[in-house]
Amino acid sequence: MAILRRPHPGDLLVVLLVLLPLLVALPRLGWPGPGAMGWLSWLGRVSGILGLAMMLVTAALCVRLPRWDRYFGGLPRLWRLHRGLGFWAFILVMVHVLSLALAAVPLSLEAAALTLFPPWHQVAIWLGWLAWGLMVIFLAPTFDFFGKLHYQGWKRLHLLSAVALIAALAHTLWLAGEGALWWLLGLLALGAIFWRKAIAPRVARLPYRIENVEPLARGVVELALRPEHHRLRHRAGQFLYLTPLDETLSAGRGEEHPYTISSAPDDSHLRIGIKDLGDASRALQTVTPGSRVLLEGPYGDFFARRHPRCRPLWLGGGIGITPFVGMAREIAATGVGEAQLIYLANGPERAYYLDELRRIAEAHPGFGVTAHFYRKEGPLTETFLRHHCPDYMDREIYLCGPPAMIRHLRRLLADQGVPTQRIHSEVFDFL
Ligand SMILES: Cc1cc2nc3c(=O)[nH]c(=O)nc-3n(C[C@H](O)[C@H](O)[C@H](O)COP(=O)(O)OP(=O)(O)OC[C@H]3O[C@@H](n4cnc5c(N)ncnc54)[C@H](O)[C@@H]3O)c2cc1C
Repeated sequence: MAILRRPHPGDLLVVLLVLLPLLVALPRLGWPGPGAMGWLSWLGRVSGILGLAMMLVTAALCVRLPRWDRYFGGLPRLWRLHRGLGFWAFILVMVHVLSLALAAVPLSLEAAALTLFPPWHQVAIWLGWLAWGLMVIFLAPTFDFFGKLHYQGWKRLHLLSAVALIAALAHTLWLAGEGALWWLLGLLALGAIFWRKAIAPRVARLPYRIENVEPLARGVVELALRPEHHRLRHRAGQFLYLTPLDETLSAGRGEEHPYTISSAPDDSHLRIGIKDLGDASRALQTVTPGSRVLLEGPYGDFFARRHPRCRPLWLGGGIGITPFVGMAREIAATGVGEAQLIYLANGPERAYYLDELRRIAEAHPGFGVTAHFYRKEGPLTETFLRHHCPDYMDREIYLCGPPAMIRHLRRLLADQGVPTQRIHSEVFDFL
């Protein structure tokens, strides 16, 4: 529930849209009737309305319009909201089914069973079951129990959600009131899916060419890209979706993947540092210079969450250094900005941006960089932090890197009493 600790303007819209059908339906539903049966039947209806509203709003959130994500604190947070709402929609649907069945138990067990499994001609109820079954199919792989998720396969499976939504809408339109409102929310949800899957890939992506592929270390390259027509405008530290079109790629051709922009906003080339973390990112290590890519974005709000009076401390590890490289390159280009960066790497050979960052630090007194090598020094300690950034308790702290590193740093900072609202983190994983 950490997501609820820092509400954003977009959250208000989500709450309103989720509650609207219930508010409109309440006069029709009235208050619960007497006894447990009355309460259970009321709960069954209320949870059904809330569950469907949440399902529809969850789908509408996947629209992924550039800049729109800022109202939700950036796309990674928006995806967390999408996942959380989807989960609670599923729970409410379960409560809906069970409460309606339990409400019929005092009549007879047969009545309860018939509420759940009526004769086949009661199509509306079976459409509800179809929606539930499809939700189980596309939500199940997200549980650790089923092992590591194959991201692209899961994305394809997720398309079942559109069928689940149509079945759930038909179920509700058949059995409940407030038809116009459900049509409206349904159009919003299905329109968002249609935009994302059918329209955005054709109209929202900008063509670029790869001008240079620079190896930075084993399994890490930096691509330098030039626009074919219009350029993408971004703020330092934001990310985009990159779809490579190179025919010779062994994997990931035509697949979109999120990558942080490591260049400053006004640089002549747009740069992206890519680490080999799976099939598609491994194939990009040998992408053909001159080949085309499509870019969609920008997204993200990592550095917008800054406290104007506090100087920032950046803690970046592994490929999670890229948002800070983008920010440091902006300081180098404009001469404006100050920050202290601690660059966490396994060893000097894995600190692939360190030389450039040190050069920027030498030229700009407001920017400092310190390297911390895990192999030599072990996990980062409070003593190291205090030694290299004595006023860290008073700073706004930004973390980006592997999940284990972020967990360690969050614990360390919390143990020292740094307020959680001053710690911002970005993990390169939406799941
Ligand atoms: C906001 C953000 C910024 C990122 N910035 C960078 C960067 O600057 N440099 C860099 O090297 N990597 C970055 N990544 C990670 C990069 O997106 C993944 O390494 C890449 O998508 C892996 O794809 P794959 O096929 O190589 O590996 P896979 O084995 O398919 O995936 C490895 C993991 O990456 C994640 N992933 C895969 N595909 C996607 C997708 N389409 N959308 C979201 N997550 C996905 C999944 O969690 C998966 O478990 C970033 C990720 C996010 C979410």
